[in-house]
Amino acid sequence: MKKRLVILGGGESGVGAALLAAARGYEVFLTDGGKLKPSLRTELEEQGISFEEGGHSIEKIMNADEVVKSPGIGEKNPIVQQLRNKGIPVIGEIELAFRYKGDSKIVAITGSNGKTTTTSLIYHICRTAGLDTALVGNIGHSFARQVYADPRELYVLEISSFQLDDISSFRPHIAVLLNITEDHLDRYDYQFSNYINSKFRIIENQTKEDYFIYCEDDEVIMQKIPFIHLHTNPLPFSMKQEVKKGAFIKGDQMMLRIQEERVSMSIYDFALKGKHNQYNTMAAGIAAATLGIRKEKIREAIHNFQSLEHRMEFVATVRGVEFINDSKATNVNSTWYALESMNKPVVLILGGVDKGNDYQLLAELVKDKVKAIVCMGTDNKKIMQAFKDIVPVIVEAESAKKAVNASFKLAAKGDVVLLSPSCASFDLFTNYEDRGTQFKAAVKEL
Ligand code: ADP
Repeated sequence: MKKRLVILGGGESGVGAALLAAARGYEVFLTDGGKLKPSLRTELEEQGISFEEGGHSIEKIMNADEVVKSPGIGEKNPIVQQLRNKGIPVIGEIELAFRYKGDSKIVAITGSNGKTTTTSLIYHICRTAGLDTALVGNIGHSFARQVYADPRELYVLEISSFQLDDISSFRPHIAVLLNITEDHLDRYDYQFSNYINSKFRIIENQTKEDYFIYCEDDEVIMQKIPFIHLHTNPLPFSMKQEVKKGAFIKGDQMMLRIQEERVSMSIYDFALKGKHNQYNTMAAGIAAATLGIRKEKIREAIHNFQSLEHRMEFVATVRGVEFINDSKATNVNSTWYALESMNKPVVLILGGVDKGNDYQLLAELVKDKVKAIVCMGTDNKKIMQAFKDIVPVIVEAESAKKAVNASFKLAAKGDVVLLSPSCASFDLFTNYEDRGTQFKAAVKEL
């Protein structure tokens, strides 16, 4: 008898899981409460995979042998609760893909901030070194789709806490934990400790043959480590102290110490700028050296990496005013790092949908570096309240175009206009990409 696998949610990862499972002999049924993207629907039809959309037929779900759920669906979802009550195993697409990846290795990257950047940089180094590798997860294909359509020897995988919640035997050869700051607490019963535990699941199945790369300057990570029995090889990175194994920055030099390998490189030769990116670059450098990539290739790739859209992306200099698009900064922590890396007076564009921000964390940097704030949101009261005593000029703008025009007026030659909103974008834009794209278009019109 074929095993019946039901897939809850028909996005990229759900359809990837469906394609992989069908190819591996499961009887697959995919169900989505909303509408499927036409291209994904066509793929299911072409492969003869049964599915429904616009609602869920409970009886067709509850007879599953196993269920793959989308990371967007939480434990409180009534269908998930029903499955739990019936004892039907629920896993994520990552776990399914892991089951069929064969001998291939995985480098998995998690953290509250910097995942996509670090994942892309590791992938870039691997490609530069000529490894047979694929970039999977948030950018690129879902892991399951990649395993189904184009298996590789190495997968560089970005993985979120929601995805880690749905693993059981998933075991990356190299796990990277960049940092942990409060995020998504609504999914974790408002308990920060639950979110921390979820991030640490990235190492739960690792063995002495595997490696765990983490930030030694992150207090949350360091407070947790003494309470876990590490059965993997720790490779920390730090800017505050030298490490025996791993990476550190001393003065303007990054030092990598991996097994016998010693690599040093000037931070001025990093393609990615800013302190946060020095952390990301250290993590990527350790991962690359651990994979056995030669130091010349690591240096070359770290140096010529092209930075990503919407993340500290240089847009243009207009009459001496530099414009930077950091639309992806949707929490205060990201904006903190963006500001930290600024060495010119800043006109800061902030605002949008606030997920419970504490703007006090920015106060000191704002006092030092920001000459004016442009609030770009429908409700800006909280930002105005937080900064009214420390920033001389605060204005409001209800579109990207107005925000760019207002900032340009406030800026003088030699200043930077930085879009790093600390907030989600849904009040005025479709998503952070749309926000960043509209910002760039408005800059080009100046
Ligand atoms: P993620 O994929 O985790 O959301 P990204 O790589 O897309 O992270 O970066 C999102 C934003 O977070 C960037 O705009 C940047 O300002 C900030 N950021 C990147 N790396 C770090 C880091 N290591 N620590 C803190 N903030 C970071």
